[in-house]
Amino acid sequence: MKPLAEYKEEIHSCSKCGLCQSVCPVYKITGNDCTVSRGQFIMLKGLIKGDLKMSPKINRYLDLCLKCDACSKFCPSAIDVVDIIASAKAEYFKTSKFEKLISFIQKTFIFGFGIKLCGIFSKKIKSKKFDRKVIYFGGCSGKIKGNKAVVKILNSCGVEVITPNFECCGIPFYVRGDKMSYENYKKSFEKILQKYDIKEVVTTCASCEKTLKGYKIEGLEIKNIFEYIREKELKPALKKKFKVTFHKPCNIDNFKDIEWILKHTGNLEYIEMSNFDKCCGLNGVTKISEYKIMSEIFKSKHNDIVNSGAKIVLTSCLGCEAALGLFSFGKYKVMDFAEFLSRHAKFR
Ligand code: SF4
Ligand code: SF4
Repeated sequence: MKPLAEYKEEIHSCSKCGLCQSVCPVYKITGNDCTVSRGQFIMLKGLIKGDLKMSPKINRYLDLCLKCDACSKFCPSAIDVVDIIASAKAEYFKTSKFEKLISFIQKTFIFGFGIKLCGIFSKKIKSKKFDRKVIYFGGCSGKIKGNKAVVKILNSCGVEVITPNFECCGIPFYVRGDKMSYENYKKSFEKILQKYDIKEVVTTCASCEKTLKGYKIEGLEIKNIFEYIREKELKPALKKKFKVTFHKPCNIDNFKDIEWILKHTGNLEYIEMSNFDKCCGLNGVTKISEYKIMSEIFKSKHNDIVNSGAKIVLTSCLGCEAALGLFSFGKYKVMDFAEFLSRHAKFR
């Protein structure tokens, strides 16, 4: 994570065309330029120049950004807004006792004790042996659910799975601007990795995948489990008929592979819901003070799922799974796609 001042060039390259406004889910509700990258960059430019001082008000706008990256993908100047906002958050983090307290609570109780408690009954199974070996980065998801789905799927692809006990990838701390915690999670990942002579890491979670790729470790390949299924052209067949829809996580890199699997899975009726690629709003879950804005985002995703007519919504990010599940109100079931396949499919 670079210091904010080092993003000066990128921030300057914003032409103020306003195209980001057309895709930003928060701006669509607020209509306030300070809640979208264009306005955020004007604020941040003021901070770098010294015309503005970091304040809780600026932090509020930084926090309102869902870090969904929709604007970056659309921006003609290709500015990476998530990295810039995380860097600005890091400036605020240094000065805020409250942010430090929240980070401590997250680290100790949610991603520490809480995840361990949730995973108390999770099981690790033994992988079959094959010449090709990969390391499974389970992160929080692996701690809660175990490794059964990954081992079953990858063994069907002729790949052996090694399952070390990794910590969280650090993404919640990255977006909060807690640089030190994020770096510590990265170091812990590197330390565990050193014990193995394997340069291929697999994950099932889009957000973990993006974070691990962001570590930029030379010679290390980070892959999503769906890439292996696609590579082998394994066509899963469900044991009975299912009608599902899919929520595309913002952080996903390989949706084409997922689409291919959805299309080639026997007994699966896939319905593309409206706005399947729009953010679930996870980053707004804890923002109780912004409930009005955030509830609009959750409501719209909930309605899209209900209107699809599917009773199962699949996804491939632990955060999306949690956010969608929280606002399902018993109307549909939310499942991780890899879990769903391992539970209901045979691989041909
Ligand atoms: S789309 Fe990019 S260049 Fe255009 S206003 Fe938004 S951030 Fe600036
Ligand atoms: S990352 Fe998403 S929420 Fe944040 S400014 Fe861009 S489009 Fe809006």
